[in-house]
Amino acid sequence: MAKHIIIVGGGFAGVHIIKSLKNDPDFKITLVDKNNYHFFPPLIYQVATSFIQATNISYPFRKMIDNFDNVHFHMGSLVKVNTESKTIETDTGNLSYDYLILSMGTETNFFGMENVQRCSLPMKSIEEALYLRNHMLLTLEEAARNKDVRIAQRLQNIVIAGGGPTGVELAGMIAEMGKYIAEKEYPEMKLSLSSIYLIDALPSLLSPMSKMAQKTAYDKLKNLGVKIILNVSVKDYKDKKVMLSDGNFIETETLIWTSGVIGREVPGLPAESIVKGRRIAVDAYNKVNHTNDIFALGDICLQLTDENFPKGHPQLAQVAIQQAKNLGKNFKKMEKGETLTPFSYNNKGSMAIISKFNAVVDLPKFSFNGFIAWLTWLFIHVIPLVSFRSKIRLALDWFRLFITNNPSIRMILYPKRNTDN
Ligand SMILES: Cc1cc2nc3c(=O)[nH]c(=O)nc-3n(C[C@H](O)[C@H](O)[C@H](O)COP(=O)(O)OP(=O)(O)OC[C@H]3O[C@@H](n4cnc5c(N)ncnc54)[C@H](O)[C@@H]3O)c2cc1C
Repeated sequence: MAKHIIIVGGGFAGVHIIKSLKNDPDFKITLVDKNNYHFFPPLIYQVATSFIQATNISYPFRKMIDNFDNVHFHMGSLVKVNTESKTIETDTGNLSYDYLILSMGTETNFFGMENVQRCSLPMKSIEEALYLRNHMLLTLEEAARNKDVRIAQRLQNIVIAGGGPTGVELAGMIAEMGKYIAEKEYPEMKLSLSSIYLIDALPSLLSPMSKMAQKTAYDKLKNLGVKIILNVSVKDYKDKKVMLSDGNFIETETLIWTSGVIGREVPGLPAESIVKGRRIAVDAYNKVNHTNDIFALGDICLQLTDENFPKGHPQLAQVAIQQAKNLGKNFKKMEKGETLTPFSYNNKGSMAIISKFNAVVDLPKFSFNGFIAWLTWLFIHVIPLVSFRSKIRLALDWFRLFITNNPSIRMILYPKRNTDN
């Protein structure tokens, strides 16, 4: 009898474990995801800034699995795990499993700041990226119409909280779009009023990366006119003012929140399995502590057994992919009664794009920046995109956009049922 594996979450980890168990008659797999598509978070900021289409970085699950005989898709959001009955409840029905794999990633962490949660703009999903895109385009239109200097300035100011790769990439791209596009297309607007602020509570940008990467990012963004504020955190966002820990404030209608993440909630798991950052504690084989048949992969799990990463792995795509591949192999070994392989992360490095033709790359043994780093970034970010069609489409789009400096998808689109209203 094939074992039924339920995988909740079709991100990097979910998709890679499916790939390693596809068409294996020993397993019947059900992928559960709240969306009907897989997407590629590292490029979301380019959707938010109208640089590429959402379809460039997303792909339908059913299309992805149509050649995999043993894989089924169930669209639904996980509500609860019942460990005794080996079932899960989703908002679209209940399912039973032999093994359960949790790979639902993380959600935005607002650190308990209610106003920030209510009024800032997070950027972790395609929906949020499209919402942010509409918001920024609408705000520009309003700024172009507004004659009151103070209001126009507030509309044109953009504050990005979080100086990690996402904040840096976003700041660089918005600054360049201001330079290449706003000047030409918004002649009524006084661009001298606009400022892009990048704020981080730590003493440097790109804090997990090398000193060279941090300095390059700082210098390049400064040159692009980004106002970088370090050692300062956002404390509140009310009356359109971002309140800072140093007592200053910035008036803006756009606070973009890229400051932190927290594991998604999984009701029903033993309380002792949920640890720091709401991550799920797992052993060296990604089995959830205090359970027998539940596994967790990727951003949602915390694994302290890897001797090179005693504090746990960074929440990166490569960790999720490598854990998924290892668990896939271990499932096959389990069926054959063979010894399982503990997970050990092979760090392939990290990178961030800063501006046109400029990126920083940290490899395990050396770091580099500039044009070659930018080409490396492009190459690395096209390779994992799911379908061949997406890769070609994205590569062509990028090439055209970087040459012309003028992406033309700046339409404000609201899905509505009745267009007369
Ligand atoms: C803006 C951004 C930029 C990033 N850039 C980089 C980068 O440049 N390099 C890098 O290595 N990493 C980057 N990361 C981190 C990287 O995306 C994550 O480490 C990686 O996605 C983790 O994979 P995962 O499979 O654990 O989770 P995810 O890829 O987040 O997948 C989670 C899946 O679970 C589904 N899901 C969530 N909740 C539920 C639910 N209740 N029920 C059912 N399904 C659910 C989601 O729809 C999604 O499909 C970035 C992340 C973000 C947000």
